[in-house]
Parts: sequence; C-alpha cells; structure tokens
Amino acid sequence: MEYIDGYRSCCKYYCKGNVNIILSAPHGGSLIPNDVPDRTEGICIRRSDENDTLLDKQFYNTKLVKDIHTDEFTENVANELFERWNFKPFIIIGKWHRQIVDFNREIREGTLNHPEAVSAYENYHLNLNNAISHVNQLFGKGLLLDIHGHSQGNYTMIGYMLSSNQLNEDDLSHSSFATSIESLCLSNRNEYIRGKKSFGTILEQNGIEPVYPSLTHPKPESRTFFSGGYTICNYFSKINAIQTELPYVIRTGENKCMNAQRFAQTIVEYMQINNLLMSN
Ligand SMILES: [Zn+2]
Repeated sequence: MEYIDGYRSCCKYYCKGNVNIILSAPHGGSLIPNDVPDRTEGICIRRSDENDTLLDKQFYNTKLVKDIHTDEFTENVANELFERWNFKPFIIIGKWHRQIVDFNREIREGTLNHPEAVSAYENYHLNLNNAISHVNQLFGKGLLLDIHGHSQGNYTMIGYMLSSNQLNEDDLSHSSFATSIESLCLSNRNEYIRGKKSFGTILEQNGIEPVYPSLTHPKPESRTFFSGGYTICNYFSKINAIQTELPYVIRTGENKCMNAQRFAQTIVEYMQINNLLMSN
C-alpha cells in the first residue's frame, strides 16, 4: 500500500481502494509536534454506561495513552486482505499522538480548539469522509471498521453503539435504540449483534477469543465495555460501522501477524455471510 501523508503527517491514508472496506485507526499514533500543546483538560474515557465520564487529571494522565500497535495491526490486516484476496481497503491511520489530538472525539474535545490540532483533526476526518463517499459511490454500501486497543483484560469488545446494560438484556429485538449496523440488522438484532452472523462470533471461530458480544459470550455482564466512540456514532448513518477493541495480547507479541490474518479472514467471512462484500 502506498500511503499518502496527511496534514503535517497527522495521519496517513490510502484512497485507492478496490473493495467496500474502510479501516481506521485513530489512536495508534506516536508523533508529538512540539508546537501543539497537550490536551490537558476535558479528557474522558468511555465507561460501560451511555455517558462519558470526566476524569480528574491525575487519573486521565494514565489513561491518555495511545492504543499501542493498533496502527501496525491495521496495516497488517490491510496487507493480508491484499495478499490473500487482492482486496485493497480504504485506510486512515492517525500518526499524531492522542495527547495532541484525539481523532475519535467530537472536535472541541479532540483538539481543545488549538488551530494546528483542529487542522489535523479536520484533515483526518476529510480523508475518512472521502473514503466513505468513494465506497458509497462505487458500491452503494460498505463497512467501516474502527480499530482500537484496550487494557481492561484479555477479551475483545465489539462496539455497535450498544452499552453493556443494553447488551446484558436477553432480547435486543424489541428495543428502541439504534445500532451502528442498523441497515444490516433490520429486525433481527440478536442474530447480527451476537448470533451466527455477528462479527464477534466469526472472530471467535477464527481463533480470536473471547469476544463480547458473540454467540458464546453474548453479554459483557460486569466487565468494562466500550460501546463505541465518536467515529462510529458520527458515520453510522452513512455506512455500516463497527468499533473493535483488541486486548494487548492480540495486537502485540509473537502471534500479532497471525491475529491480523485472523482479523482479515473475519472481515471477509463476515461481509460474505451478510451479503455486503463488493469489489472491482
Ligand atoms: Zn482507542
């Protein structure tokens, strides 16, 4: 993949995709330009309930870490899609560190209105918007996967904008809430969120486990669970969008390449099973 560098190397992107897959990784960057200040207020972490919770500065300093190796993992997934299936996904990978700009927050919170951070943020989302427009023009539908890493335990979380409280219900089909894959789900949320057709179930079948929600692990129960951040909430009305939160052990270590292959295999199977995969 020949990536193009974004504004002041705030991100890199690949815009010549030939398949209706978009991969984004907002939190893996490590560049810290010295003329852009740290974001020292308003930092929050998504808790298992619906609302972000503001944290005090001392606590947030330990939490304002990048999602280490999610940029590399995303590139490995893209390489596998190309080498095995000749699929070139559209890709947007953040390069600036999260302490400078957070691409997965609403703009004010993500930039604290610093002009350079705003320019970087706008550039990232311009490229993401362009990718979505291209996919919709070329194929009429597609899938955006927003790839993150977490340190809450050795399990993977799949975010569809459903909180743990919502996922802990026995039946999802009668609820009034929206999901980030609503056009896929239609009336059968249980099947698409934690049934045989769900991303979590197929990920487990390919050897990445445990995953919440999935057929064997349908409810996060009391575990920390991230329902999905700004990216999927902002773009799900234009494209099916899923947030994946991978544990450290999956995206690092000796099995990281195999796990990227498993992840790529899951994307392809998931899109085939759900009649979503299209390429040219
Ligand atoms: Zn993240």
